[in-house]
Amino acid sequence: MSQTKLTPMMQQYFSIKNQYKDCLLLYRLGDFYELFAEDAKVASKVLDITLTGRDAGLDERIPMCGVPHHAADSYIATLVKKGYKVAICEQVEDPKEAKGVVKREVVRVITPGTVIDQDILPHKANNYLAVLSWHQKTVGVASVDVSTGEFRVTEFSGSNGQQSLLTELERLRPAECLADPQLLEQRGIRDEIAKALGAAPAAYDSRAFHRDAAYRSLTQQFRVSSLMGFNLEDKPAAIKAAGALLSYLGETQMRSLSHISSVQYYLPDGFMAIDSSTRRNLELTETLRQGSFHGSLLWVLDDTQTAMGGRRLRQWVEMPLIDIEAIKSRQELVQALYEDTMLRATLRESLSQISDIERLCSKAVYGSANARELVLLRHSLQQLPAIYQVLKDSSSSPLRQVADQLDLLTDLTTLLEAALVDEPPISVREGGLIRPGYHAELDKLRELSIDGRRWVARLEQSERERTGIKSLKVGFNKVFGYYIEVTKANLDLVPENYHRKQTLANSERYITQELKEWESQILGAQERSVELEYELFVEVREKVSQAATRLLGTASVIAALDALCSLAQVAVDRNYVRPVLSPPGRIEIVGGRHPVVEAMLTGTRFVPNDVLLDRSHTQIMILTGPNMAGKSTYLRMVACIALLAQIGSFVPAESANIGLVDRIFTRVGASDDLGTGQSTFMVEMNEVMLALSQGTSRSLVIIDELGRGTSTYDGMALARAIAEYIHDHLGALTIFSTHYHELADLELSHHRVKNYRLEVLERGSDVIFLYKVARGRADKSYGIHVAKLAGLPRDVIHRAQAILEELETTQSFKQMDLGLLAEEAAATQEQESLGCSLTAAKRIVEELTALDLNRLTPLEAINLLAVWQALVNQE
Ligand code: ADP
Repeated sequence: MSQTKLTPMMQQYFSIKNQYKDCLLLYRLGDFYELFAEDAKVASKVLDITLTGRDAGLDERIPMCGVPHHAADSYIATLVKKGYKVAICEQVEDPKEAKGVVKREVVRVITPGTVIDQDILPHKANNYLAVLSWHQKTVGVASVDVSTGEFRVTEFSGSNGQQSLLTELERLRPAECLADPQLLEQRGIRDEIAKALGAAPAAYDSRAFHRDAAYRSLTQQFRVSSLMGFNLEDKPAAIKAAGALLSYLGETQMRSLSHISSVQYYLPDGFMAIDSSTRRNLELTETLRQGSFHGSLLWVLDDTQTAMGGRRLRQWVEMPLIDIEAIKSRQELVQALYEDTMLRATLRESLSQISDIERLCSKAVYGSANARELVLLRHSLQQLPAIYQVLKDSSSSPLRQVADQLDLLTDLTTLLEAALVDEPPISVREGGLIRPGYHAELDKLRELSIDGRRWVARLEQSERERTGIKSLKVGFNKVFGYYIEVTKANLDLVPENYHRKQTLANSERYITQELKEWESQILGAQERSVELEYELFVEVREKVSQAATRLLGTASVIAALDALCSLAQVAVDRNYVRPVLSPPGRIEIVGGRHPVVEAMLTGTRFVPNDVLLDRSHTQIMILTGPNMAGKSTYLRMVACIALLAQIGSFVPAESANIGLVDRIFTRVGASDDLGTGQSTFMVEMNEVMLALSQGTSRSLVIIDELGRGTSTYDGMALARAIAEYIHDHLGALTIFSTHYHELADLELSHHRVKNYRLEVLERGSDVIFLYKVARGRADKSYGIHVAKLAGLPRDVIHRAQAILEELETTQSFKQMDLGLLAEEAAATQEQESLGCSLTAAKRIVEELTALDLNRLTPLEAINLLAVWQALVNQE
């Protein structure tokens, strides 16, 4: 495309577009944002808008599509949601004053990780932008939620570093992730990261990752001379990641983001690490099958009144604590709120009046908050004194301390109260925002315009009297301004001082010198007052933006208070108790319930169960029982209760004593990980591998039905080997549920293994599930009974029963512990009792074990028997 032939405007377009190649460029043209060329083709498809063309000075018209600027937000939202970056190019001079093409500049780039629009963002979840750096085998991870100002950074290194990095990325689930090109050169890590994120991170400018440049970005943003106060001085990987993140924000947001006023360095080891399969398996924030919030653990716990509280609670659930003191101080607060019903009710009432202060604040910083939003902020701030007072009056000293952390921001509230009317319009450019009495000049302008309008209102009456024209009317329209209208029939009565302005079919419109003067007073005053209102509003918004750090501080206290109130309320509503916390190695629960299953049950009551896991005698529970008997529920219950205890929540039980757990590992259900194309068996093995390689004696391991994805013998052998390994080497508290009843034999040889079963009652051919866990092993699997429950046709059930009976005869043969038999034979050396030599017996046993009965023809079976008989007879 030869640029010389392009029209000047299109030349401008392409020169700007060239700087934003990776973005869709929205080019402001009058009341529209237009997209051209390739961008237009993409946008017209994604947004389902008509693709037209525009003469650009070339032989062919250039593809074009556009969206009206007043409705642009929702179109931009759609593009960003689909993962596109959008560059907003505005006219930066008044078209009336422009010589040649109006000057235009990109004023902001909106990317999936830098959205602040409430319509795009989920209310009760964060939206992160993450940046990864690489420094001498250490990975730095910086993350920011631009809509709330939260900015954190951490580092990963060492042998366990990679796994922890992946876990952290899976927790953050950033909407956008950038990386140091040097990190992307490390193929192994890059591929793992890409897998954890679902896509490879985009490479970002390597210069931004230079330590000194990054250091400068950080000190400039925080207006400090060193990073000592942030505990970052000796952490180059963290500095690089955080600094590069700021430089990306500078490049895309093009404004100073005063609400990002500090960065928090954290240790991922300071929290219970929850890998992605455990998060999924325990359904922490969404269900396994449908991915819905309803039915998740957070769904049960979330009775928060504010979006901020909702986000905080989600963070707590995803990052349980491991420091006993930190957990206890949360528990103290929950307990204080739990016990004082009045206090809790008052707080919750005030909280329910509070909007999303964090996001309103960042909108103010971005200069995009409107007056309605600032009124919402004002209303939120007005709740603070009452909250402060009830906390201060509380008998609980931890709650009184929370009150002391609240900055009531009275100065800001007073300003907002004085400045803004109660119900301002959405538009900030058309007046009606500022309260009378706030600004003397504005009041004067308003008076002038009101005086003028009063004069005009009186004019109609006085002119009618003066001229004798009864139908005379005074009116106003936008094009011609004020006029006096006289119908054609009365034209002869029109006085001299009327000047004709406009002729209509049945009437003439006039203006007088005096009316003209009043008109200019009214319109002038109005125009000036609308302008002044806008200026005053922007000033107020600026003040809010300057208070960003204080606002976010208060928002953070409110978020925590709301999350704590929610935990207390749920504890009351659902009858939870405060768990006792103790050193690792023991979990004792009396009358425990599964929080979600209990909440979902309708009509029936959840059957509570006890749990006793103890490193010294019941390290491993082997849980057997028929399908649908409640094994899985029991397993997850234990994990959920431990997790709840460590976020500081009360737990669904009569009493609980929880030894702190450093990690929870789960292998639950047989879910194929279709997304990554792994087989069930592969998923199972990966999850178990994680537990065996990363677990410690302080971990809790939950294994449900291992080996479903493979053949019986493989599965059983693996399950047994894994259980033995956990017993002999890992030392983690473990619950194993299994349909391999043979696994229960472990109890005989491994003294910290104990068998449990889920009890059922048999009535004729029916089975009644009691959901009660009892000591000992189950003896059969009742699979057919479950099929009957599921409503399989009667013929199928009968046939299955017949097959089962047939199999059971073979099974008893199959189930003999052949290995044991051989060992015993070796030990006793009683060849005679065997009736054959040990070698022969071993060979027979070996061949028998390797046999696949499903494939054996009767003839082959007879032949084998003949061989074995011959072996025995040789003796
Ligand atoms: P399994 O893992 O043994 O196949 P599940 O744990 O999936 O069985 O339980 C099957 C169903 O039984 C659950 O969906 C739930 O409705 C019910 N259930 C399980 N445990 C209990 C319990 N303790 N009290 C009441 N109902 C239960």
